[in-house]
Amino acid sequence: MLYRCAHRWAFTHWGGPLEQREDDLPTCEPHELTVRVTHCGMCHSDLHIQAGGFDMGSGKLSSLERAGTQLPVTMGHEICGEVVETGADVQGVALGTHVVVYPWLGCGACPVCARGDDHLCPKASRNLGIQRAGGYADLVRVPHERYVVPIGALAPERAATFACAGITAYGAIRKLNSMTDTDHVVIIGCGGVGLTAVALASVLTKARIVAVDPEPAKRAAALTHGATLAFDSTAPDAVKTIGKACGFDIAGVVDFVGGEVTSSLAVNLVRRTGQVVIVGLFGGEFRMPLPMFALKSLQISGSYVASPNDLRELIALAQRMPLPQIPLDLRPMAKVNEALHDLAQGRVVGRVVLQA
Ligand SMILES: [Zn+2]
Ligand SMILES: [Zn+2]
Repeated sequence: MLYRCAHRWAFTHWGGPLEQREDDLPTCEPHELTVRVTHCGMCHSDLHIQAGGFDMGSGKLSSLERAGTQLPVTMGHEICGEVVETGADVQGVALGTHVVVYPWLGCGACPVCARGDDHLCPKASRNLGIQRAGGYADLVRVPHERYVVPIGALAPERAATFACAGITAYGAIRKLNSMTDTDHVVIIGCGGVGLTAVALASVLTKARIVAVDPEPAKRAAALTHGATLAFDSTAPDAVKTIGKACGFDIAGVVDFVGGEVTSSLAVNLVRRTGQVVIVGLFGGEFRMPLPMFALKSLQISGSYVASPNDLRELIALAQRMPLPQIPLDLRPMAKVNEALHDLAQGRVVGRVVLQA
């Protein structure tokens, strides 16, 4: 069987709907592989990619187009599927292997990529689903075998979500200092990624996990996936209510929204010497009185997805122990536009996964 034509769902202008198109695929280069997509998760950042950029605050927008992303764009960066074609020099990955694809590709040649931090490459982004065609398609071309991880007996619809939601959550939780069982970690934003973080934090740290989200359904989901307390961030006196319930002993706050309101909530909640990790890309500007950095001795950091090795570790962890499972909303690939619309309207609990 030859795989010379990819059927893709792509947008041809920024903000436009996804339309079906056919693209010829050349023969695999020596280290390339073709993966037949069986499942592709849908990420909130797809809405930003489709819109053409991110809100950088003060009315400024980042522009994917100015940064060199070319139309048409085939999104989809949580890809799981079967290896159906391999280049002549591919080693260790047999045809027919079911894999999750690592999508956060750098230039592949600089010292940062060489040490395995492809996602932090300062040279050139080749991310699948942004700069390169992603998983809203029947076939995906992957540039090197080191970007695929066999999933073994894991459910493919679940393994797919590890490529972004999973490693974003894993990478952020791994940035937290070591916690004791009297510490509290607050997770702000319990959509797909935040809920995964709640689940992972309950397994990977000793701290009590506190979920914060305006949606009752998302708070309820967090409570059944490892959170011991859950609060509405939009309630009056939210800082006081949450702080009091945690004995004003919040050692870490991970913000999966990354908006002006949530980042301010995070720095107000965290105790002295606590940590704030900003993950979400909702946008806006971070504002905080400068003396608070010193007076509270805060550690404030960012976290952006994670490395190919982190994806391997997460897959291994999921194979070793049953991780609490976030709800999945399985839909046919052909309904991709409706699914994006529902995601934009906030009508999705957990993660949408499109099926071929
Ligand atoms: Zn994503
Ligand atoms: Zn690089």
